[in-house]
Parts: sequence; structure tokens; C-alpha cells
Amino acid sequence: SRVRVMELDSSPDVSFEQIGGLSEEIEEVREAVEYPLTRPEVFERVGVEPPKGILLHGPPGTGKTLIAKAVANNAHADFIRMSGSELVHKFIGEGAQLVRELFTFAREHAPAIVFIDEIDAIASMRTNDGTSGSAEVQRTLMQLLAEMDGFDNRGNIRIMAATNRVDMLDPAILRPGRFDRIIEIPVPDADSRREIFRIHTRRMNLSGVDLESLVPPTEGMTGAEIQAICREAGMRAVRRSADTADQNDFVEAVKKISRKESAGDLRMY
Ligand code: ATP
Repeated sequence: SRVRVMELDSSPDVSFEQIGGLSEEIEEVREAVEYPLTRPEVFERVGVEPPKGILLHGPPGTGKTLIAKAVANNAHADFIRMSGSELVHKFIGEGAQLVRELFTFAREHAPAIVFIDEIDAIASMRTNDGTSGSAEVQRTLMQLLAEMDGFDNRGNIRIMAATNRVDMLDPAILRPGRFDRIIEIPVPDADSRREIFRIHTRRMNLSGVDLESLVPPTEGMTGAEIQAICREAGMRAVRRSADTADQNDFVEAVKKISRKESAGDLRMY
């Protein structure tokens, strides 16, 4: 069970060329995570300590995990992922122990980047509902804070976390010396969507597809949704045994994924 909640990826196979847009955000993450690992002497020379924890926040599917993996790859570091929500929902009673093990594991695998996904599951503002779960969640959070406080940020382990509910986070985790570098990963603008379409069609066979025409109707969609559109367009071509995906495949795919997206929105209310 330990293996499931902690996922190890040695120098993950993700490069910055696979990420559309986000160039400023990527540079900010590299400064905080990658350069302290690859050029620690620069930080020492200037006499500045790198940030301890880096929090990425933004809607689901905007590339937070992708960035963390690309940075790990570039830094030749192991990527160790733990899901905050799995920790809370699947490993009841084991949270604090697993957090302790996570940091031990990271020390054994250094240089490493620890990525805690959906950190809001363990670090939300205390709800006053008095459910039995919340004391356990609180213990898990306390363990995480203790591990971070006892951690030397000049070492070769970097801590990253991601959330799409930054407004819900317990301010205790955002204090200096904890997750004190906060970087927003927004939904892609038109230029970024164009780039993401190019990235996800790079290996596809297309005929007469005007990717530019797909940029305006996908306003508000995430990278994950654009990837889903490209996959759906390809599947439509496969279904009719064609060699190439055409404009109509993409138009229909945009419609289908838009419908899914708005159905998802409705379910939230
Ligand atoms: P979550 O909050 O759901 O974990 P996330 O922000 O971590 O989401 P990712 O897992 O990084 O999202 O993205 C999911 C997939 O969507 C990626 O594997 C990638 O294929 C695609 N994707 C997302 N954003 C981008 C982007 N900016 N450029 C290219 N592909 C992207």
C-alpha cells in the first residue's frame, strides 16, 4: 500500500518543450526548485537561501504536475509524488506515519523533488464540523509542518505542492519557511492554447486541419481538455479507418469536450 500512495519516477520523461505557454511560471519554478539543486554555489555566493516549499495553484489540468516533472527531469532528480486526497481517503489512520516515511524516502533518493498533489485535502482550514476524520487530518498536517520545519532547504531535496483550492488552505502552511513561494498556474490564453494544440498534434497525421480556427472556440479550456480534444479527433479518424484526422474531426471533438466541460460545471452546483 505504501507504494501506491508514494509514486517514484526517476528523472521523469517530461521536457519543457511539451508544455504550452507558462514560460514565466516555468522560469519562476526553475529558480526556486531546479537551480538550487543544479547550481547551489550561486545561492551560496550571493548568500541567499532558496525558498523552502513551492506551491502551485490553479484549475485542474493546467500543467502543474507537468511542470514539476519537467523540473525534476532537468535537475536529474527523482520525482516523488504523494496525493493528499489519497492519503486522507485511502490510508485512514496512517497519514502522519506516511508523511514521515515520505521524507525518509526522499532523503534516501536525493537529489529528489517531493510533489504533494491536492495538498488541500490535508491542509484545509479547519472545518468546525467535528467529524472524526478531521482530528486525523490535523495530525497528518502537523506531521507535514514538523517535517518542513526540521528540513534544511540548502540540501538536495525540494518540496513542491499543488492545489486548485488555494483559498481553502490553512494559513499555517503558507508561513515563511513552509510553502512560502506561491505560483499561480492559470488556464491558457489564446497563444498558449495554440501552442498546446501544436504539442498534442505533433505526432498525429492531419489533413487540412486549421489549428488556428480551434483557438477561439476553446477559450477557457485547460491543457488537459485540449489534449482530450486532440485524442478524440484522432479516435474519430480511427473509427472510420481513415489515415488522417481532418477539420471535421476536430470540430466535432471540440463540441464533445465542451459539452463534457459544461456538464461538469453543472454537477458542481
Ligand atoms: P491536477 O490539478 O488535475 O493534478 P495538473 O494541473 O497537475 O492537474 P497536469 O497533470 O499537469 O495537470 O496536466 C494533465 C495533462 O494535460 C498533461 O499530462 C498534459 O498532457 C496536458 N496539459 C495540461 N497543461 C498543459 C500545457 N500547458 N501544455 C501541454 N499539455 C498540457
